[in-house]
Amino acid sequence: MLELSKNEFLIAEKIKNLKNNSGTHSPSINTFTEHIPEVKVKVDACFLSNPYATDLFMNYFHEELIDGGALRKYLEFYPSQNGVIAGILSKSLHVSEKNIFIGNGAIEVIQSVIHNFVKKKIIINIPTFSSYYEFCKKGVEIIYNKLDKGSDFKIDIDSYIKFVKNEKPDCVVIINPNNPDGGYIKRDDLLKIVTELNFVENIIIDESFVHFAFEDPELNKISTAEFFSSNKNLIIIKSMSKDFGIAGIRSGYGIMHEDRVRYLLSNGYLWNSNGLSEYFFNLYSRISFQSEYEIVRKQYISETQSFFNDLKGVQNIKVYDSKANFALVELLNDISAKNLVIKLLLSDNIYLRNLDDKIGLDGEFVRVASRNKEENRYIIDCLKKHLDD
Ligand SMILES: *Cc1c(COP(=O)(O)O)cnc(C)c1O
Repeated sequence: MLELSKNEFLIAEKIKNLKNNSGTHSPSINTFTEHIPEVKVKVDACFLSNPYATDLFMNYFHEELIDGGALRKYLEFYPSQNGVIAGILSKSLHVSEKNIFIGNGAIEVIQSVIHNFVKKKIIINIPTFSSYYEFCKKGVEIIYNKLDKGSDFKIDIDSYIKFVKNEKPDCVVIINPNNPDGGYIKRDDLLKIVTELNFVENIIIDESFVHFAFEDPELNKISTAEFFSSNKNLIIIKSMSKDFGIAGIRSGYGIMHEDRVRYLLSNGYLWNSNGLSEYFFNLYSRISFQSEYEIVRKQYISETQSFFNDLKGVQNIKVYDSKANFALVELLNDISAKNLVIKLLLSDNIYLRNLDDKIGLDGEFVRVASRNKEENRYIIDCLKKHLDD
């Protein structure tokens, strides 16, 4: 099934070279079209963002920055310093500004935390977002806790706690929901982990995808920021790229002990943000923006969950349960992930994430991001075309 033609094979080779140049992250759409003009991407189901939130941001961008003329101010002048932006964010997060560190994307928060505070041993659940182990300094021992495919990559809370107590690391990383499987640890279970593991100096919770998760039928927002008051070892990391659909402006933050924030700021990061990111954080703190965002957030979650249901109707694949905005899809019956990605790209202009480079994943896997309703429909139709018997 899904054998490649000669031409498809040649383009696959070009893509492989591009991919090798971008390390463990996928080449962006722009890189693609620049280097391989024969590849057209109509639906980017590799990038993980809420397109409706991007639309919402763009409305404000046009109204206030372009038509209202404020753009020049944001581009001409220095943005506010890290601590000032933290102050803006502090009100909506209900956390003191002393505990907030603003990053040029969450990736910078990850880098600064891993470089500065992790000294001995880190436990990372795999498969996962690769930066957490790639950024570890030499001399730090990395222990991989492989999530079990047989239990659908769900973490067993009690055995995880036992494992960590036994290993005595100075850092644990929990991404919730996890990337690339979308597995979600319930709030109460997470609190149990945080409480039991209070001896670990750095407990990192990356909640970059938490706005897509829900525990009730109303899809109310979940946050673990308040766990921080009872556990000062906690470091909560959050990207704004995915849920607000604004990866290009590089906004992210970390919540951590004030000594840590102070330490990081005394070593740099003064104007690490940029004008547009500052504009975004200002917008984020407005109640009117938040209520509009809530509408598109919930709309997108509903559509995403129904997309996952439709995906489950495609033959020859297994779709893992996800509380993020993407689904981990395992290809069954010897279908190759690489071939499926190439077929979809060349015949349907859909870009999926091939997960063949993810450590901790044995088998053929792709990750499919949820886009808008029409695009999701199109993805399903094309997958059926290639995969249904
Ligand atoms: C994308 C991602 C990040 C990085 O986000 P940026 O804010 O764009 O740097 C961090 N953590 C996880 C789990 C991610 O998937």
